[in-house]
Amino acid sequence: MEGTVPGISAAPALFTAINKDTAELHHEQVAFDADLAQRMSDRGVRILQATDAGELLPRAATTPDFFECRFCPWSERCWRLPA
Ligand code: SF4
Repeated sequence: MEGTVPGISAAPALFTAINKDTAELHHEQVAFDADLAQRMSDRGVRILQATDAGELLPRAATTPDFFECRFCPWSERCWRLPA
């Protein structure tokens, strides 16, 4: 059938990821889960609101000297509050 994407009815959602080191994009058709989509959207809004408010949200550790954070390349940015 012209104009159709194979498998689109079984997997109508598009998952997109970007490799932040190379800017390479990955696209993948996935099943649509409305509850999951809403939860992830709500989570994104919460993160943006907290960022705008200068609030640090709970993370994998409670302090930046946690061993994983000490070796994490994002540690400085992760634990820094906006000036
Ligand atoms: S510094 Fe790295 S490992 Fe630690 S909470 Fe942030 S992102 Fe996670």
